[in-house]
Amino acid sequence: MIAKVEPLTPARALRGPFDYRLAGELAGVGVGSMLVVPFGRRRLLGVVVDLAEESELPPERLAEPLAALEADVPRALVALGLWVAREYVSTPARGLALVLPPGTGTGAARPLRPRRSLRAAITPAGQAALAGGERLGQRQRAALAALSGGALAAALLARRAGCDHSTLRSLERRGLIRLESAVEPPRRPRVEGVGARAVPAELTADQAAALTSIESRLDAPAGPGRPLLLHGVTGSGKTEVYLRAVAAALERGRSAIVLVPEIALTPQTAGRFVERFGDSVAIMHSRLSQRERYDEWWRMRRGEARVCVGPRSAIFAPFGDLGLIVVDEEHDGSYKQEGDPRYDARTVAERRAAVEGALLVAGSATPRPESRHGFERIELPRRVDGRGLPPVELVGMLGCPGPFHEATRRALDEIRRDGEKAIVLLNRRGWSNFLSCRECGRVWECPNCDVTLVLHRAAAEVACHHCGHSERVPRSCPDCGSVSVARHGAGTEQVERELEDVVAPLPVFRLDADVAAAEGVAAVLRRFERARGGVLIGTQMVAKGHDFPDVTLGVVLDADATLRFPDFRAEERTFALVAQLAGRSGRGPGGGRVIVQALDPSVRALALAARHDSDGFLAGELERRAALGYPPHGHLIRVVCSSVDPGPELAAAESVRAAIAAAGVPVLGPAPLFRRQARHRAQLVIRSPERAKAIAAVRAAVEAVAAERTHGSASFSVDVDPQ
Ligand code: ADP
Ligand code: ZN
Ligand code: ZN
Repeated sequence: MIAKVEPLTPARALRGPFDYRLAGELAGVGVGSMLVVPFGRRRLLGVVVDLAEESELPPERLAEPLAALEADVPRALVALGLWVAREYVSTPARGLALVLPPGTGTGAARPLRPRRSLRAAITPAGQAALAGGERLGQRQRAALAALSGGALAAALLARRAGCDHSTLRSLERRGLIRLESAVEPPRRPRVEGVGARAVPAELTADQAAALTSIESRLDAPAGPGRPLLLHGVTGSGKTEVYLRAVAAALERGRSAIVLVPEIALTPQTAGRFVERFGDSVAIMHSRLSQRERYDEWWRMRRGEARVCVGPRSAIFAPFGDLGLIVVDEEHDGSYKQEGDPRYDARTVAERRAAVEGALLVAGSATPRPESRHGFERIELPRRVDGRGLPPVELVGMLGCPGPFHEATRRALDEIRRDGEKAIVLLNRRGWSNFLSCRECGRVWECPNCDVTLVLHRAAAEVACHHCGHSERVPRSCPDCGSVSVARHGAGTEQVERELEDVVAPLPVFRLDADVAAAEGVAAVLRRFERARGGVLIGTQMVAKGHDFPDVTLGVVLDADATLRFPDFRAEERTFALVAQLAGRSGRGPGGGRVIVQALDPSVRALALAARHDSDGFLAGELERRAALGYPPHGHLIRVVCSSVDPGPELAAAESVRAAIAAAGVPVLGPAPLFRRQARHRAQLVIRSPERAKAIAAVRAAVEAVAAERTHGSASFSVDVDPQ
């Protein structure tokens, strides 16, 4: 038997698969097995991607693998990893690394292995010795007695019987006990719930109808068919539908994956799944240690865990009997991976569901135009509690001196007076804080990235948000010596201070990336939940799926900042921002309202969001996208070439452009981009209705140009479906 092995090495040049002969005790390995193989003088870890009867290599050149690892990956996942590599123009090793047990991917020098420990069990001879008259030492007798109730970990047994390891070894030599090395049961990570609710007694009519269509898809003899879009307003009880859908899959003997946006942000959702399904849930999130992830992976692989809840990488959960994939908040940008392979978990979910015969259910209050177009829709048009969505007031900020409009101040003042709760959302893209010299106009920029450094008042430094470069806030201008340095922009910190003034003595809780890293999102949310009254302020994070019934006011600051960026998703982002925040307000008997501040409150996305008209927005957006050839009516691919010195990046981009155009695929560029991480960059954009053809052309072009000596100093990065 010949195993075709793809080596797990980050080197782009080393392209497998390579043939190895299987013999002896390795004859049983199959597709998905992980092998240690000799490669020249090195040893590499590799994955078996195929088996064959014969090799094209002469027998004397065929080597044998050195060892097999304990873990193996389901065959369908090997195929999925290789598909991701092709679809996102990456390498097989990087695609496969996604589906392997955590800690075994490319670059891991020593893969994790299951923790082993020695277990002791009594043998029939041992039973007889204990009962009969055999001569036994006092410690030996105690050890056998302790084992008569069942096998024990050797360490525990030694403690109970007051003996040491040599006693156990001698009992083993006499055949009275058996010592075996066994895999230790994995440890479970802890999940903290925030605001978790009990099981509701009865589904609403809309929820019941949604569940019925999901169940009938699960039972369809011809397979589940097209993905479903669960389009439900905020507070319509989508999570309860997911929970019941998962239960339905489990009842049918199938496993389920639930994708949630970056999980640290949604402890509530994860908590509800653990509450409902207990130990059969594996939770994967970014705060787990490598070992905890590995242990969770094994619980799924062995079938002890049947449900996987996690962020985008959970789409690769090692289930062999997958029946359901849920994508919660399917509009969320965190489903796209930023590094190579730049996969989109929603697209991978579609692929995996189709290949493995699983049902895909994607849910959102603000679905993507792509899903509205391609999926079959189920609607939850009403809130569970029958309350209407809160009224949204749009206010224009032209001529307003401070960060808050008069209407906002009044509303916040009422919150203070009545001791209620509010959420204030800062549209992150709008808050630029930077330094400039009042004398000569110098602006502080990053020496590596050609972008303005952002001012962090608290730390008294300016920092680059691309590469992390930072410097102290200067006393004077290095160009002209002036000591008059201006600080621009109302940053989160300044708004926060003004907010504190307006609502004092109510507490203000800040939630942003810095706080999330230091304290954890769940901790801040818990403090906000427990507070009698107060204001939660922060960037996009505050609008994500939290359920606090007593919030009566939502405020969006600089709502149209998103629209000032040249991005075809700008409209979609702006609409979602307002609609999602509106969903956080007025969930309780106190009702609620929303104020949206914008420079131009008359723009379409805001006007429709204020009317909660997501159908109207989607219809208009799909029309616009069709006219422009944007997704779902066309596919975008971005190729970025970069180099340390100026020049090679443009030459490389020019060559890639020519090769793509020669394949008959339309391509725009090269356009220079601002420098980033001390690299000069040039970009090509491919927009084509023929996805497969465009991807194939880009792959061939990049591989060919990257292999040319003349472009040796350039690097290439490809982004299919950029966000
Ligand atoms: P969505 O995800 O659609 O915004 P949630 O799933 O957060 O909505 O549900 C909002 C609230 O309604 C939650 O507190 C949830 O426990 C509750 N809920 C869901 N379904 C029902 C039901 N059938 N009856 C009563 N309460 C429900
Ligand atoms: Zn100056
Ligand atoms: Zn920088």
